[in-house]
Amino acid sequence: MAVERTLSIIKPDATRRNLTGQIIAKFETAGLRVVAQKRMQLSQAQAEAFYSVHKARPFFGSLVSFMVSGPVVVQVLEGENAIAKNREVMGATDPSKAAPGTVRKDFAESIEANSVHGSDAPETAANEIHFFFSDLEIVG
Ligand code: ADP
Ligand code: MG
Repeated sequence: MAVERTLSIIKPDATRRNLTGQIIAKFETAGLRVVAQKRMQLSQAQAEAFYSVHKARPFFGSLVSFMVSGPVVVQVLEGENAIAKNREVMGATDPSKAAPGTVRKDFAESIEANSVHGSDAPETAANEIHFFFSDLEIVG
């Protein structure tokens, strides 16, 4: 296994309920390290660009509205096998299908307001990290 980096977003449903620390604790307990982090309000254009892979999906407009509905916390997580490990800690997209102890099982409100985003593969992780962070902002 190699040390990897992945892009994580704590979504507006979670920042609104003041769950940032509890979610980060799950990442850290799983061996993931926060090596970059910022809280921000996404613009409509940023949210549309970030989720452009989903632009043909019926939920795209609603997803973008949700993602700009409040602040997010964007993070780079680092660790052994970080991309898959973070997806494990997050749980399934649909919280009703998420395993016990996962972020989405414990905190998600719905399949849309599901508390966290995590990159799904090395190439998307690299692209998503550079969407939000310069190399100077990532300190491992
Ligand atoms: P994941 O975040 O688990 O990688 P996807 O990449 O498939 O899931 O979808 C991106 C985001 O779009 C999801 O996290 C969720 O916020 C939203 N989403 C996915 N499927 C639906 C759906 N059927 N209805 C509403 N929103 C959805
Ligand atoms: Mg995805």
